[in-house]
Amino acid sequence: MPISTPAKISFPLDIPQVDVLATKQTRDNKFIITVESRRDTTQCGVCQQEIACNYGHGQVVRLRHLPILGQETTIEIRPRRAQCPTCLHNPTTTQTLKWYDQRSPHTKAYDRYLMKQLIGSTVADVSLKENLGYDAVLGALERQVDDEVNWDEVQNLGSIGIDEVAHQKGRKSYRAVVTARQDDGSVIILTVLKNRKKKR
Ligand SMILES: [Zn+2]
Repeated sequence: MPISTPAKISFPLDIPQVDVLATKQTRDNKFIITVESRRDTTQCGVCQQEIACNYGHGQVVRLRHLPILGQETTIEIRPRRAQCPTCLHNPTTTQTLKWYDQRSPHTKAYDRYLMKQLIGSTVADVSLKENLGYDAVLGALERQVDDEVNWDEVQNLGSIGIDEVAHQKGRKSYRAVVTARQDDGSVIILTVLKNRKKKR
């Protein structure tokens, strides 16, 4: 191999039940990873029964994901679609997957990453550092508000942290990000609470 060929690594993409179709790096070094779902069923939006995804694909969805080697990373997916064989008028449904919300421009992993960036920082700072709109950071914060704690992920509650994040510019509205430090040193987000009054 020529000396000038850069060394390459491969590692598992930490997104469940997908196949990687393509990876590319744009001229400004951003990573774009195209995936497709391995699951071939979804719940009908009307009757809730599990139905086969046999109705093609929806529009491409672009989701900001965790950075790779410090570079912005986007996941692209064309969600599978399904048509219910039993409901009246055979309504169609877009497949939902656990690792992103249909109305969110981020993967859930990226939303959690943003929460950690917000600790000891402000929405404006994180927006700048992540090259994201102010409202996109705020949206991530709001999606975590009163989210249920996933106790399966929590090994211990030895060290709980509560950080206040200013919610709106110039207004006294805050969110409290509640975190727990784990034995391995990692910090997990337990929940985000509404907290309108800043305590001193
Ligand atoms: Zn149905």
